[in-house]
This record gives sequence, structure tokens and C-alpha cells, in this order.
Amino acid sequence: IKKIGVFTSGGDAPGMNACIRAVVRTAIHDGLEVVGIRQGYQGMLESNFWDMSARDVGNIIHIGGTILKTARCLEFKTPEGTKKAYDNLRSYGIDALVAIGGDGTANGASRLSLTHGIPVMCIPGTIDNDLYGSDFTLGFDTATNTVIEAIDKIRDTAASHNRLFFIEVMGRDSGCIALRAGIAGGSEAVLLPERDTAIDELIEKLSSHANNHKSSSIVIVAEGDKNGGAYHVAERVKEKFDFYDSKVTILGHLQRGGSPSSFDRVLASRLGFAAVRALLNGKDRQMVGLRGNAIVLTPLEEALHFSHFKLEDDLLEMINVLSI
Ligand code: ATP
Repeated sequence: IKKIGVFTSGGDAPGMNACIRAVVRTAIHDGLEVVGIRQGYQGMLESNFWDMSARDVGNIIHIGGTILKTARCLEFKTPEGTKKAYDNLRSYGIDALVAIGGDGTANGASRLSLTHGIPVMCIPGTIDNDLYGSDFTLGFDTATNTVIEAIDKIRDTAASHNRLFFIEVMGRDSGCIALRAGIAGGSEAVLLPERDTAIDELIEKLSSHANNHKSSSIVIVAEGDKNGGAYHVAERVKEKFDFYDSKVTILGHLQRGGSPSSFDRVLASRLGFAAVRALLNGKDRQMVGLRGNAIVLTPLEEALHFSHFKLEDDLLEMINVLSI
């Protein structure tokens, strides 16, 4: 391997820049050339390449988003699109790839490697924390901290007015942000895509809290909750339970931005460093992740085969216990 390509793809996540920095500098340190591919697979189709130096990744470790930009690209998924991307990579002399993104990104990298033989390493970069092969994905810690900061502020006003707040957080298929934010933000209930929570059950819980002299409550609703989102849940609760004045806050895209936490910066650096070293050691088609406190490689087939919802049983139980 002489020249590696690095790209970010799918949804952006805080920590991607720190990871790009680690990939670029490890590669240069180890005698490789590095090409940044802008806008993920779209950039491969357009040969949107950037010969990167160690200085190009200076002063980005603390910045959210991704300097390489990201995109979703349907054309790449076709056999012709995949071949065109590969041909463009080869004609630029790129002979291995580091992909930073979610499961779609890893699927695309897997396809490139399987159909055309280019070695790939995937780094789990998504705020959703829903990838197998790593206990934590890049951006999840920062996004959860952002949510907690918002909950804390909402709590001040909720407590001052005897209010019931429904706060909708990101997570179409994964309740990881909602559950952690629910625990760390001291919320009364959490509605998750992985679990069916009946509205009556929620009302019963809120009533018992009210009977226990709670003057305000915070309910975290993951956007993928099967009841249809925070507005819908609030409407339905209000029909039967109007002890509190209720309000809805949708946190939306602010959860994606911001300076990465120290945890995400260190994780990004470790994963980027390990991905380059793994390529140099002849590895291919692996997800680079953190398990326990160790960096581990998981074959992409295995990583993509398992849908992995990391909802810890103790956290699920604790929501009920600690909110009495
Ligand atoms: P996030 O979890 O933040 O949504 P993601 O990486 O899963 O990130 P996707 O939009 O699913 O985001 O995928 C990013 C890109 O990867 C797609 O736009 C497409 O170009 C490519 N891709 C996704 N799935 C496949 C697939 N099955 N085969 C080939 N390429 C794919």
C-alpha cells in the first residue's frame, strides 16, 4: 500500500474531524500518501480528491462536522456506480480506503472491497451508537452531552411552572441517545424505538408521580418511537391526563453539531490510528471499534450481519426505579 483514501459518509457526527486528522497523520508518519475524498461516495464518482498534508488537518480536532463533507449517493449503489468509483480511485493511485460513517457507509465499503478487491477499513461514525463491533460510535458521547445540556435547561423551566415536558431526541431506529440522556438527565420516562410503550402505561406512571408530589416531569421520546413522535405522544397524554401544563421540545439537528467531547476525540484518534496500522498489517474488510477499553477489529460481514442495539438492561430498569 502506498496511497490511502479517507472519506466520511452518511450523517455527520462530532469526532469525524479528529478521526480524519488521526488517519492522515498516522499515514504520513508511516510513509504513506493520503488522499481526502470529499463528499463520500459522491466524491469518488466525481474524482473529488484532495492530496492531504499533515498541516491540512491542523486545528480541526475540536471542530464538529467533517472538513471532507459528507453526502448520500444513490448512484454508487448500482454496479456501474461502484465500478466507476473504483476506476476513479485506481486511476488516482488510491490502493486502500478508510471509511468513516454508519452502517450504510460500511455496506458501501464492503461492496467496493468485495467486487473490486480494494482493501477497506471502516470506522463507526454516527451519533446513533447502533453499529456492531464497537461499544461506542464516534459522536454518540457528544450528542448525548448536548441533549443533557438541553434537558437541564428545560428542567429549570419545567420545575418553575409545574410542567410536563416531552423532549424528542434523535434515534430513528436506535434508542441509545434517548436512554442515556434519560438516565443522565434524570427524566421520568423514556420512549424508545426498540420498545412498545403504551400511552396508558405512560399516563399511569405520570399519575403515580403526581400522586407522589412530583411537580414536574420530563419524558424523553426517541424520534423512532412507535407512538409517532413527541407531539403525538403529548396530544394523546393530554386527552386523558391534564394534571400538568404540557410542552413539547424537538431538539433536532442541534444534536449533530458542536465540539466533540474528550471521549469522542480520544476515540476518534484511536480508531483512525488503528485503521491505518491495520491496513499496513495487511488487514482488509474490518470494522475498527472499541470493546471494553481495547481496540478490536471485527470482520465487516459479522459487523453488518448483526443488528446491535446496545440498550443496557440495568439502564432500562433504572429509569423506572430512579424516577419514583
Ligand atoms: P447514518 O447512520 O448516520 O445514517 P450511514 O452511513 O448509515 O450513516 P447511509 O445514508 O445509509 O448513511 O449510507 C451512506 C451512503 O453509503 C449511501 O448514500 C450510499 O452511497 C452508500 N450505501 C449505503 N448502503 C449501501 C449498500 N447497501 N451498498 C452500497 N452502498 C451503500
